[in-house]
Formats: sequence, C-alpha cells, structure tokens
Amino acid sequence: MRSAVADGQISGPVTSDSPAVRHDWTLAEIRSLFQTPLMELVFQAAAIHRRFHDPAEVQVCKLISIKTGACPEDCSYCSQSSRYKTEVKPTGLMEKEEVLSIARRAKEAGVSRVCMGAAWREVRDNKQFDRVLEMVREVTAIGVEVCCTLGMITEDQARKLEEAGLYAYNHNLDTSREHYGNIITTRTYDDRLNTIANVRKTSVTVCSGGIMGLGETEADRISMLHTLATLDPHPESVPVNVLSKVPGTPMADAADVPVWETVRMIAAARLLMPASVVRLSAGRAKLSLSDQALCFMAGANSIFSSETGQMLTKAVPSPDYDADRELLTILGLKPRAAFKDDERNPGSARPATHHHE
Ligand code: SAM
Ligand code: SF4
Repeated sequence: MRSAVADGQISGPVTSDSPAVRHDWTLAEIRSLFQTPLMELVFQAAAIHRRFHDPAEVQVCKLISIKTGACPEDCSYCSQSSRYKTEVKPTGLMEKEEVLSIARRAKEAGVSRVCMGAAWREVRDNKQFDRVLEMVREVTAIGVEVCCTLGMITEDQARKLEEAGLYAYNHNLDTSREHYGNIITTRTYDDRLNTIANVRKTSVTVCSGGIMGLGETEADRISMLHTLATLDPHPESVPVNVLSKVPGTPMADAADVPVWETVRMIAAARLLMPASVVRLSAGRAKLSLSDQALCFMAGANSIFSSETGQMLTKAVPSPDYDADRELLTILGLKPRAAFKDDERNPGSARPATHHHE
C-alpha cells in the first residue's frame, strides 16, 4: 500500500501555518501512512523533517518534579498515584530557590527547556499556584523555555500562566479515546481535550502526546494520532513516551514495546505534524545509541536529560547530561537554543516582557 504522503503530496514552504501542514487527515489516510513499510516510512519522515527543522539540532529538556506523589488520579501507569503502592515517596511543593538552582545547572548542561511537573489532578487557585507562577517567572528569566504539567487547568489559570511568561503547557492524551477508560477512570478524554482547548485560548503553546505500551492495539495508536493530527493548530510539541513499568501499578507486567514500533510512531507523528517538535521521552534509557539514532532519523528532535538519571521520578529512568553530551557528539548533533523559533502567537509575551490584558 502506498503511503498517503508518498511522492511529494506534502509540499510547499516550511512554516507551521503553511498549506503543507494538514489538519484534515482521515483515519483511513493515517492508517495507510502508519502501515507503510518501516524503512520507507522512515525515509519519508526524514525527508519532511529536513524541510521543517534543522536536522543537526536536538532540543534537550529537563523535567523537575516540583510536587511528587499522593495524586488522587488512578492513571494505571503512574508511580505517583495514591491508589498504588510504589517506591515513590510523596513530597510537598518545592521551594522556588531549589527549582531555580536545578534550572541553572540544567541550562549550563545545554538544556533549553525546563518542564515543571506536579502530581495534581487539577490546579487550585491558592498560594501553591502563586508559588508555581513565581517559579515560571524566575525560571523564564534565566533564559530557558518553561513548560508546566500541573493537571487540568481553566482558561483563567492558563491566562495567569501566560502572564507569568509560560512557554508551553503539557497535557498528554496518553492513548486513544477508545482505550482511555481502560487506563484512567478518574477523568475523561474530553476533560483532557478541554484543558488543551483552555491553553489554546492563550499564547502558551501546547505539548501533548502519548505513551506506548499500555496494552493498546495498532488501531488505538492510529486513533490517538488522528486526534492529535486533527487538532488545529497541532500541538507544537508531541512527546512519544514508552511505558516504564512501575512495580505496584496495574501496568507493572505490561508487554515490552519493540523499538521498531517506537520508530514507527515517531515517523508517523513527524509526517502528520511536520512542524511540531517530536520528543523521544520516557523509555529512552532502554534504547541503544543506534536505536536512538534511528529515532532521530525518523524525526525525533528532542530528548529529556537529567543530572539524577531520572525523569519526573526515579520510577522512570533517564540518561544523564554526560551520557547525552556524548550521544549528541557521536551523532554530530547539537543542542537547540531556547526560543529559537518562538512558536507563541504573534504579539504574545516574549521572555521577561510580560503581557497584560
Ligand atoms: N499530573 C499531570 C498530568 O497527568 O497531566 C502531570 C504529571 S504526569 C507524571 C506527566 C506524564 O508523564 C503523563 O502524562 C504520562 O504521559 C507520563 N508518564 C507518567 N508515568 C509514566 C510511566 N511510568 N511511563 C511512561 N510515561 C509516564
Ligand atoms: Fe496523577 Fe499525572 Fe500521575 Fe495521573 S499521570 S496519577 S494525574 S501525576
């Protein structure tokens, strides 16, 4: 079967609002693209990647868990849900100074995006949120893109984050609408889409992707890609996570995801959302250098790195700064600078110049 993107059906200039960026993908087109023979799919993805991005650059990001564990949600993969007994110890909201010192060290190590995650179901308008807003202001001021992932937010809360200078808000769809209820029962797919829509009412960019390895079928992967690729605009950032199996969670014994399935997912995301940054996220610690090289070839252009060898919690391992410096050097890649192509809406707040209504 031919790929829906074969032979230059995607052509034109290379901006995120160009006609080459489609939002009207049908499920059948995505299925056909997804089922393209792997090497052909990677070739197509690599070709598109070069038209929209500098292929020599990879953005290095650092996650900081600013509030860990004791989350009331029941996400069946997560080490931080209070429903499951895992090795993760709950901690209260971090002090701003601690977050700032981690962020400064990260910047020195080549990180250009700092993502602050809190194990909350939703944001409440209280002193803790005020502290997060202060963190957003001050971490932005050191010259890195700041992303937050704090659970559900209202439009008003999204505006406050925008005014503090937030660059991106992460809210993953995780899986397909059809499979969602098997993974999480404490919120709905529409709750997820609603938070994304609230972020979209501001200039804050959207980061949204999924996790492979949650017992989903190929049809679920295609369906999730369809939901993401028909958002208009596309999420500027699309994380592709592979489940880290956390003892104590319902997903502890899930089947492994073969690396070629990860490569296929990355290539499909690259072709469907050509201007977005595709992030090779959880699960990278298990990949060899050549596995990762194939992921970059297929269009991944961001990684998460860490000084502690963990992503948000120790349940999800990550390579460290030194290993990643070596990885990028061997592959002839370089870390991407912050705010390279500011993807926020025109007229939006630039770093350190706050936007007022
Ligand atoms: N509570 C917020 C939320 O759910 O939006 C943010 C924190 S949550 C830990 C951030 C993301 O990490 C999740 O959406 C999920 O995609 C990913 N994640 C969490 N646990 C994981 C695991 N064990 N393996 C892979 N990805 C995981
Ligand atoms: Fe809570 Fe987020 Fe973990 Fe779900 S993924 S249990 S919402 S921290």
